[in-house]
Amino acid sequence: MKRMILTVLAALALSIQADAAALKIVATFPELADISKEIGGSNVSVTGIARGTEDPHQIVMKPSFATKLNEADGVVYNGLTLEHSFIPALLEAAANARMVPDTFQTCVGPGCIDCSAGIHILEKPADLSRAQGELHPAGNPHYELNPENGVIVAKNIAEGFSRLDPAHAEDYKKNLAAYTAKLKAAVAELKKMAAPLKGVKAISHHADIAYLAAFTGIDFVDTVELKPGVPPTPPHLSKLVDEMKAQQVKLVVRESQYSANDADWLAEQTGAKVAVIGVMAHAFADTPTFIAFQEHNIKALLAAIGK
Ligand SMILES: [Zn+2]
Repeated sequence: MKRMILTVLAALALSIQADAAALKIVATFPELADISKEIGGSNVSVTGIARGTEDPHQIVMKPSFATKLNEADGVVYNGLTLEHSFIPALLEAAANARMVPDTFQTCVGPGCIDCSAGIHILEKPADLSRAQGELHPAGNPHYELNPENGVIVAKNIAEGFSRLDPAHAEDYKKNLAAYTAKLKAAVAELKKMAAPLKGVKAISHHADIAYLAAFTGIDFVDTVELKPGVPPTPPHLSKLVDEMKAQQVKLVVRESQYSANDADWLAEQTGAKVAVIGVMAHAFADTPTFIAFQEHNIKALLAAIGK
């Protein structure tokens, strides 16, 4: 009997210990939550914030997010100010000393896991300023649209988890190696698939396409928006029609979070086709992961050019 009680107590102690060891992580976007789960495995519990169908610049905040951030050991985020409509305010409300909100870096402290560290940033302006009301003051923040950048994201997440939970550093290293191998194989396949997109002229709704252009070789000539976050005016739309006709642009890329009206109208006026892409995982029902959303995007682009 005594032995049985001891066994039960030991099991209980182990389960408490296992629970205490679980790293509590909040990830801003669904694909970052996906990669966090791949790297964290059973050592980490991951809570996501954005749903995937939203505009990443305009995520709707809920009080429960501040509670999650208050209880979290770390927050995994895209960075380059992409989350500035919601993360600094949530961190302020969360009052977690490990994650302090910051104007330009989003978050400062040991719990901050910035996935943009080491990313080759495109469209970087000469000075960091929001004076013009730009949504991209630190350069183009949409680097997740280049599937190759997933390798750097995964590495940053693994480094963050190892820093916060050194006892499981070996696990994170192993999981990173396995995930990187899987991701690199998927990326190589996508690169092959994307070959017919090279040199294809296109316009996109938002200026989030630079990284997708770098991966596919698509030549993005203009955006439907006047500038990031500023909707088009009728003169701008007319100018786009002229530009598309003059340059033989036959592809309009619409990010799924934007209304179809402008893209469809432009396609109608010019005979172009529309490809609807996601900028996050879960933008579509069949894209729950970082890899699935990249595959969806390349297939949508190919379908729109008839390949
Ligand atoms: Zn943007």
